[in-house]
Parts: sequence; structure tokens; C-alpha cells
Amino acid sequence: MASSTPNVPVPPSHKSVVVRSLTSTTPEERERILKDVEYNIFAFPAGLLTCDYLSDSGTSAMTDVQWAALMRGDESYGRNYGYYCLLDAFRDVFERGDNQKRVFREVVVGTADISFYRKKLLVPYQNGFVNGGLHQLERPNVFIVPQGRCAESLLFSTLVDVIMKEAQQESPPTPVILSNGFFDTTAANAAEAGFELQTFTQPGLGDLFPQDLIGKKNYFKGNIDLVETERYLSEHPGCVTMVLITITNNWAAAQPVSMANIRSVALLAKQAGVPIFFDACRFAENAYFISEYEEGYSKRTIPEIVQEMFSYVDGFTISLKKDGLANMGGVLCFRDKGLFAEKYPDIGFRLKERQILTYGNDSYGGVSGRDLMAAAAGLYEVIKKPYLRSRIAQVQLFAEKLLANGIAVLSPPGGHAVYLDMDMFFYDCDRKPDDFASVGFTLELIKDYGIRAFESGSFAWEWDKKSLIERQKIPNLVRFAVPRHVLSSEHIDYTVAAIKALYNRRHMIPNVQITRGEDIRLRHFQCGMKPVACKPES
Ligand SMILES: *Cc1c(COP(=O)(O)O)cnc(C)c1O
Repeated sequence: MASSTPNVPVPPSHKSVVVRSLTSTTPEERERILKDVEYNIFAFPAGLLTCDYLSDSGTSAMTDVQWAALMRGDESYGRNYGYYCLLDAFRDVFERGDNQKRVFREVVVGTADISFYRKKLLVPYQNGFVNGGLHQLERPNVFIVPQGRCAESLLFSTLVDVIMKEAQQESPPTPVILSNGFFDTTAANAAEAGFELQTFTQPGLGDLFPQDLIGKKNYFKGNIDLVETERYLSEHPGCVTMVLITITNNWAAAQPVSMANIRSVALLAKQAGVPIFFDACRFAENAYFISEYEEGYSKRTIPEIVQEMFSYVDGFTISLKKDGLANMGGVLCFRDKGLFAEKYPDIGFRLKERQILTYGNDSYGGVSGRDLMAAAAGLYEVIKKPYLRSRIAQVQLFAEKLLANGIAVLSPPGGHAVYLDMDMFFYDCDRKPDDFASVGFTLELIKDYGIRAFESGSFAWEWDKKSLIERQKIPNLVRFAVPRHVLSSEHIDYTVAAIKALYNRRHMIPNVQITRGEDIRLRHFQCGMKPVACKPES
């Protein structure tokens, strides 16, 4: 990791000026609460935890600049100014590279007068992801929604309708989406809409990575498998609706995708006449990995890298709760006159109808005006290199401390989370995938230490419902997602010590049974469970 002197960590990128005190609870009290919530960790009250690694989604501490912007939020029904600020922030961040206009600043300080509106906010704009002025009315291509999954649902459900309406045959083939890895809500939304999903993660995610190379090298384990993608596209002409590249690859342990991989898969898709989209939730973190580890990018700025990444795609969905540093918001957009727009000429209007029907008028889409302002400001904060450097360094240091304590983690660590390798954790404990012992680990962690992590293995990925082939692709991990700007080294050290203590008594960690809701889609959010003590080995 970049630092000028060996053994000196990267400098901090921020300081705290507001703090939140934590409530203190005992293990007995937490055990009682666990029982009250049917041992579902999602249902455990956050206010009773010491460290919450459940998700980095919407849990970021915003910067003072974002709070300033938030105070200037406007809740008007038609065209609040957060709408214009967010749209132009998208153009700035995803298209303009280092030539950003940053119009939100004028709105924040209250100097946006009529001439500013006419010259900066209402100007016609086209051929990018965010049409402006009259072009956005004539060819709508950007859709604000409450969060990322709403963007997915809007896109996939509308797209299936359009495909089925246009189909010449009576029973057209099931449309397919190819990806380097579908996030759980993405997969569920696409499947619910009627798509078949094919996941082609580059092989080698679980391969050993030399510990001394952490922070020095990165193999971009989040890449899509180009050979499989090419094969599928040529063997199934006309069946693939889109290629969806998730950056960073949250299905594959938050591993980044390289620019070379993005460029190559975009070319494959183009040759096959298939639109390519990003699931862009952590675009800035992905850009940082490219700048640090990919040949030819060390001298390029983060905004330039982001600009190049997005130059290859026809559209994207994004949750602003991740790299937006915002607490709420999501967006779907597609390139004006790009391949997607060409293939589905009317889709902008269909998307807008559905957006208005389900979320709200297009200029807020279910997001409050103040959150739109916070997100607009946040997009500029997350592309700052010092922020990204300390962000990624914190996650890396967390992983290194675990490794130094003999705890196996998926290496190198990804962007927003550290993943414990639970096969290694329970290596001498004879736990089977449907014992759900990794869930047992997360329950013990809450009970004994007030720390919440997320099982991302046989339980969450529904091992028991999958085919033999699919089962082989399911990793056995527990995820510690690190919220942005929230935790200090003190929290990380406490967590490492707690994990180590549980590792030392791993034989006593209970297995877990599902007691209710086994068959609900995305069951991990709502089913009931109970720990079952496993017999200590003789
Ligand atoms: C979080 C996430 C989503 C969904 O976004 P929400 O805002 O939580 O609905 C989609 N894709 C990826 C990769 C994510 O990490």
C-alpha cells in the first residue's frame, strides 16, 4: 500500500467531530435478545451492539460537506434542486473525468440564480448516461429510486415485459443474463422477473495468496471468466439479454475487476450485439484497486479511471448507499443512443411509467430531496484518493491483523469487507455445509462480544436448495463489512481479539437449524433459527 516510509501506515484521511456513545450490554442480556428474535441476526437491535459489520450499505458516516449539502435539501415535488445536482454529479463523476463542473456547490451556498439555472442546470445534454434539459424529457435515461435493488427491479421487470411483447414466437426462449457475480438482491430480482442467470466468475477465488504480497499485488479475482463468457455467447446466439459486471464483485468476496477485463468483456459483448451494464455499487473502490495494482494506471487520477471504466458500458445500476457515502438512494441509467437504447427504443418511457407508479415523480423517485443533495456531494468525496487510500488500508489492516493471529481470511482482502475462510476456521471440527456452523459462529459473536457479522456461505446462498454443480460454487465465508468513516483501530482490534477467542473454542460453537421460513426467497433476512449444541469430540 502506498506510503512514503516503510512501516509507517497510510495517513488518516479524516477526523471525527461528532460521536455516538454505545450502550453497554452483557452476554446474558444479548443471549435473551437473540432468543427473542429467533436467532436471526438481521433482527437483532443495532443499538445493543458494540460493532456492527452486517453491511456497509447505508451505514457510512457522511462528511461535513455532505451534511452541509443535506441542510440545503429541498423537498419540492417537481424538480427540487437536488435532482439537478445529482444528475450533474453523475455526469461529472462517470463521464467527465478531471473536467468536473461541481454545480452542487453553488446550490449549497445559495447563489444559484436565474442565470445559473439557465447556464448550468437546465442546459441540453445528450449522448451520455444523463440526458439534460429537453433531451431528458424526450429520451429519459436516468431513474432515481430509493436504493440499488429498486433500480434492479425496475430494470429487470420492465425489460422482461418489453422482450416478451416484442417476441415473434409464441413461447420465446428464457432470456439470459451473464455476470462475473450477481449480488443476492440482483440475482433475486432478475430471477423473479424471469431471467436465467449464468455466473462466470474467473476461477481461483479461493486460491492461496502469499501473505507477504498483500498490499503489493492483486490478481483481480473479481474478473469475469472471458473464455466461458465467449463460449456461452457463441453457443447461445440471440439468448443473452445483457452482460452485467459487478464492481467490485460482491458475490466474489468484494474482489475488484481489472480495466483489462472490463475492456475485453465489453468487446465480446459488442461483437455479440449484447448490451453491457455495470452493477456499479462500489465503482470508486474498484477504481482505486485499478490505480494501485493494474499496470499502466498508477499515474492516472481516480476520476480518469472511473471515466474510462464507464466508457465501456451501455448502462448501470447503482446503490448510493455504498460508494455514494450516502445513507439512501439508488439510480438506473443507460447511455443515450447506446446499444441498449437502440435495442429497446421505448424503454425509457416504460421505465419512467413504472418509476412514477411505484416510487414517485422522476425528480425524486422515493428519495427525499435532502438525501439527493447528500448523495450528490458524496459522489465527489468518494473519488478522493486520500479517502480511498485510508478506506482500503483499514480493510487491509483488519485482514492482516487476523492473519497475524492465525485466522484464515480470503486473500487478498477486497474493498469493503474482510471474509473469514470458515472451512479453515472449522478445519478440524467435522462440520457439514447443512450444519450451518458458520451461522452458529455469528450468533456466538453477537452473544459473547456484541459484534455482528454476516454468514455468506451455505445458509445465505441456500446450499440445501442448489444442484450438485451449483453447490460447488458456494464459498464458506463470514463477511465483516466495514462501514465507511465509522470505525477506528480500537474497534478493529476488539473484533480481532473476539474472533481469535472464538477460534480457540471453535469446537464448542453450535450448529444451527432453520425453524421457520426455510423456503422464503432471500430467507436469511427473515427466517427463524435455533442453535443446536454440537457434541464435543471425544
Ligand atoms: C448492496 C448491493 C446492491 C443492492 O443495493 P441496495 O441499495 O442495498 O438495495 C446491489 N448490488 C451490489 C453489488 C450491492 O453490493
